[in-house]
Amino acid sequence: MKELNKSSKVMGILGGGQLGRFFTVAAQKMGYSVVVFDPDKKSPAGKLSDKHICRSYDDLEALDELKKICNLVTTEFENIPAKTLRYLEKDIIVRPESKAVSIAQNRIKEKNFLKKSGIPIGRYNVIDNFESIKLLNDEVDVFPAILKTAKFGYDGKGQIHVNSVTELEAAFVKFNNAPCVLEKKLDLDLEFSIVMARSINGDYLEYPLIENQHEAGILDLSIIPARVPSILKKEATKLTKKVASDLNYIGVMAVEFFISNNHLYVNEIAPRPHNSGHFSIDACVYNQFDQQVLTLAGGRPKDEETKFPVSVMLNLLGDLWFRKGEKKSEPNFEIIKSSEISIHLYGKSEPRIGRKMGHLTILGLEKQSVEDVIRKAESIRKIIWEN
Ligand code: ADP
Ligand code: MG
Repeated sequence: MKELNKSSKVMGILGGGQLGRFFTVAAQKMGYSVVVFDPDKKSPAGKLSDKHICRSYDDLEALDELKKICNLVTTEFENIPAKTLRYLEKDIIVRPESKAVSIAQNRIKEKNFLKKSGIPIGRYNVIDNFESIKLLNDEVDVFPAILKTAKFGYDGKGQIHVNSVTELEAAFVKFNNAPCVLEKKLDLDLEFSIVMARSINGDYLEYPLIENQHEAGILDLSIIPARVPSILKKEATKLTKKVASDLNYIGVMAVEFFISNNHLYVNEIAPRPHNSGHFSIDACVYNQFDQQVLTLAGGRPKDEETKFPVSVMLNLLGDLWFRKGEKKSEPNFEIIKSSEISIHLYGKSEPRIGRKMGHLTILGLEKQSVEDVIRKAESIRKIIWEN
């Protein structure tokens, strides 16, 4: 492994999954060397990086080593301990800063922050002991609801649907009485996200709105542009700008929205590039990871130039590797190869049910409508599942 000397041409990233991997590619393309910090020996980003520090996030000695090599550090997922970011922040530049990440990584803090900023959110209660469950008895209209752990949830993990106080108590015990939020289940008309980038000077860039369809709490399909009425689009942009400026946000961030009975609600904030923003890799001149590199380095985000105004992203979960039953078999991507389809695999050796292994981007050709491209995506899905 080559020796890295500390210079402005070295960037660090905490977390080495697929988001870190795309970041690494973008940074290296712009002439930077990348240090990936991730405890997993087989981390997808670690494999491509100039250096992989394979230690745990609370290993101060290893963090000191990171500080010695780079001036600039970012994160690829919100579950990096805020303490780690604060430790780095003492000596080097961390973007987004620990404060923003610490809010986004704790659903209780996140709801408090959103409420204080005047952002519309769905009805919820903090559940942090049995007393707080008892107090619910006096409230009407709590169920059906979803109990979500305040920390460490992703891809629908750390969530249990509950319909009664008894079920809620059982779910809370299942989470070892860890602090949670109980969200009233909303009737969803549609889900969408806004992926944006913001510079140290507050320059703001937003990609087209992305419509998201989930299966069992995991993103399945992203559709660009989202089929959202323009009045709600404008409102969502306003809310996203407010969130970003109140967080003093620097970097790439995604805000997830619900539309329920024609009303807008913010679901959650991701302080990093987002799975739903992957279309930008193939559909835009500058993708969300380019913007992450540019803003981390103190520059402005580049104007979003869409090469393909219509596209659909389809996640490839480990389930596909088990389409023939228990025995694992590699999908046959050869048969779907075409110039309008971009296949991305993340280099994960072990497919598991629900694990994100890669994604496909289906680019809309001239005159193709969103519905045409969705139909195409569904037919491609069918082909790879049946082969
Ligand atoms: P994660 O961190 O796993 O993305 P989310 O809170 O975004 O957690 O939940 C995952 C998905 O579960 C959402 O995208 C949505 O489809 C569904 N969901 C979450 N909260 C609610 C809710 N209050 N009402 C209805 N559906 C919900
Ligand atoms: Mg989510």
